Amino acid sequence: MPARAHAAIITVGTELVTGQRLDTNGAEIAAALLASNLDVIEMLSVADDVDRLATHLARLTAECAVVVVTGGLGPTHDDITREAASRALKRPLVRDDEIVRSLSGIVARHKEPDAAEHILTQADVIDGATVIMPTTGTAPGQVVPTPGGVLVLLPGPPSEMRPMLTSFLGTAHRARPPVRLRSTGITESDAQIAAQRVLSDAPGVGLTVLAAPADVEVVLFDEGAGPFELERLGALIRAELGDVCYSADGSSLGETVLALARERHARLACAESCTGGKIAAALTDVPGASDVFEGGVVSYSNELKSGVLDVPAGLLAQFGAVSEQAALAMASGVAALTHAEFAVATTGIAGPGGGTADKPVGLVWFGLQTPSGTSAVRREFFGDRAGVRTRATMFALDLLRRALLEF
Ligand code: AMP
Ligand code: MG
Repeated sequence: MPARAHAAIITVGTELVTGQRLDTNGAEIAAALLASNLDVIEMLSVADDVDRLATHLARLTAECAVVVVTGGLGPTHDDITREAASRALKRPLVRDDEIVRSLSGIVARHKEPDAAEHILTQADVIDGATVIMPTTGTAPGQVVPTPGGVLVLLPGPPSEMRPMLTSFLGTAHRARPPVRLRSTGITESDAQIAAQRVLSDAPGVGLTVLAAPADVEVVLFDEGAGPFELERLGALIRAELGDVCYSADGSSLGETVLALARERHARLACAESCTGGKIAAALTDVPGASDVFEGGVVSYSNELKSGVLDVPAGLLAQFGAVSEQAALAMASGVAALTHAEFAVATTGIAGPGGGTADKPVGLVWFGLQTPSGTSAVRREFFGDRAGVRTRATMFALDLLRRALLEF
């Protein structure tokens, strides 16, 4: 039973290990390797220190089929990745004529006489490597054969790194992507146990469970079972998870809701108080959301709830802004305003202050308007302000999903 090939990631840059810059490339590369069914076993950040980087490269290229490095490929003295890789693999650097030609325009624009030599170091390629020419920026990437696989060198700027990573994974690694079952409204442990029940006598499948607030992802990897068996087991686990499972291909809840609305030619809207626009953001994060999403109102103040959404001021005075009545009126108000068939509303207490015995921190009322009427749901979420807001956003989107599934 072949196990998944091991992979490792090294992000290079003193700015990364000193907290001057956040390492976003590491997470992006890890997700892309995972999607290519590679088993990432190590990710580390190293300062611009050629000896240290060479040591890590020698170790990881001996252990892993794929090692991806980002950063340190530019023209300045601190760009040490080429040199470190050359040392680690004991292969010389060879100046590549095609890259030299591609850099000639840049060389001509510099004033300092020594600049040319710095810029041309970007044309130094590890002997035997395949060059990935840049579509943006100047630093080329390199794919270097190693005794156990490949070492991939990518530039540091995310906009330069990304297309090269895609091109490397697209051509060099065509493994089947894993099955990704996403659910909301289930705990990580319950999801794990449900998946393991199905997999208990199914060899050749790897399982990972990833959890974010109100979002649990069960990922199945092909470790020898083959694509059809992976699909079959994915479908069985989906059935085991039940209606909490909202997608089987890793798509987000926002994407799922939009796809359901599109199939039904239904339009969506939202009125948000405690979620402050996060529902609208989750929907508009998805390209093409305008097909079905009419828009949303962030009605934080009572004045806006009354003035824009027509929530009666007397109702707010009598029951309070965080109430079943307010949630119902907000949902029907935004539906009337936008002519959307499906509308969701949130009003709650995200904390940390503002809670009372009746209305504790974490309490959220949801309003839902659909073609069959208006309803409200009360929930109490745990967590800090960010956690409550995220959980409330997921819950509101899930109300839309479940309502759409009935039509
Ligand atoms: P370099 O290729 O090392 O010259 O990196 C150029 C720039 O890219 C750095 O100054 C950072 O702003 C950015 N960068 C490098 N590595 C990363 C990373 N791992 N994540 C995000 N940005 C990065
Ligand atoms: Mg750098």
